[in-house]
Amino acid sequence: MKKLSQFGFGTIALLSASSLMIADTADSYALLGFSLGTGQRDFRLNNNFSDSASNNNTTADSNWPGYVGADLAIWKSGAEWGSDPFGDGSGDPTQNVIGNGGADFNPLWMGNANGHSTNARNIISAISGGGGGAIAWMYGGSGGWTIEFIDDDFTFADGPGSISGSQMCIQAINTHEYGHALGLDHSNVRGATMWPSASYGSTGPRSINSDDQAGVQAIYGAQSSSMPFIDEIRGSTAPGGTAIVVGGNYTADRVRLWFNSDVFNNLQSGGDPYKLGSLTSTNGGTQISFTVPTSGIETGGVHVKLDGGGEALSEGHPFELGADPWNKLNLTGPTSANVRTTVNYSFTNATNNVPYKVFYSFSNSGTTVNGHEFDIGGPANEFASGNTGASGSGSASAFLPAAASGITAYIEAVTILSGGAFEDSNMITLVVN
Ligand SMILES: [Zn+2]
Repeated sequence: MKKLSQFGFGTIALLSASSLMIADTADSYALLGFSLGTGQRDFRLNNNFSDSASNNNTTADSNWPGYVGADLAIWKSGAEWGSDPFGDGSGDPTQNVIGNGGADFNPLWMGNANGHSTNARNIISAISGGGGGAIAWMYGGSGGWTIEFIDDDFTFADGPGSISGSQMCIQAINTHEYGHALGLDHSNVRGATMWPSASYGSTGPRSINSDDQAGVQAIYGAQSSSMPFIDEIRGSTAPGGTAIVVGGNYTADRVRLWFNSDVFNNLQSGGDPYKLGSLTSTNGGTQISFTVPTSGIETGGVHVKLDGGGEALSEGHPFELGADPWNKLNLTGPTSANVRTTVNYSFTNATNNVPYKVFYSFSNSGTTVNGHEFDIGGPANEFASGNTGASGSGSASAFLPAAASGITAYIEAVTILSGGAFEDSNMITLVVN
């Protein structure tokens, strides 16, 4: 398979052969001339990076359960090209929301592969041997792709925050490379993720810009108004438990849920999606109730897949196997806001008629109280309280003073049950502009 595109660094723009296909001088994206088939939405990492910086992030993120290090960086890099925010969109201190493609396309993170080859199996891998100045490259076409990072020539770092000026950002580089896998060539728009060169320490390409969005939408079409979507998961996600996917645009029957699989196949591919089929929806196509499989699936993401033409595949949502009772409450609200505005948060899925509190902290390093693990770290500041009432819900609001400009706050809701037990929510990261 032909090597289609490679990513240079600094001011040395290493143009691939395909760049010669750019015929005009307009400032815009360019296309490689293929699109991935609907069976090629999956992507995986053969995590063989050799530098410690590539896998030294060991902090779990509730919006990206089950993976840390380079795995997490790669997962986020693909999800950025998805139609909509993955879960609540949080998880990257350098961008407000992950999932900005707006196209009729969603990628499927399938976790780890246990090897790689240049045959197209949608695997990302580090390789040894010099790259002649290239940082990474992609071999691909409509039938799949391979991405290789030139590990001997660079120190690749997994983030998730800023990257040292002597290192290259795995997430940023792969957001670019995965753009090639989707069929995008280099753009001549400075600031686009598909700009042909990258700098040491740069995290900018993690976030696709309007030119990249226009490119992916040109290939796959703008997001269909009938695309299914997921807002939250309720109930117990323990094996054998009953959980509910809540969202919309679900057909009445022949609904499928696609999960991460824990099965490796013999093609080094880390397995295909675990497909839970023949499901029905209720409540006007907004809820899918299912029994959590007792084997074959693992923590990662869940997508809704419908029958019929077109993509009909939702954006991803975090799925944490056996998450109950952690993060039982479903907290929703803004992930970014301007100073001198009021932010409003609300939660559902709590036990009825119990006291609740909503906290913010400037730390997301976790806290344990009475053996219960919370996502936010200390000190935690209470900014709302109340009673969940008959609906098991609650809300909180806060005015952001001018002095809050530039801060990042972590928000979590808690209910207080009898005997010192708690229920907690997912954590929301709020970036104040
Ligand atoms: Zn490139």
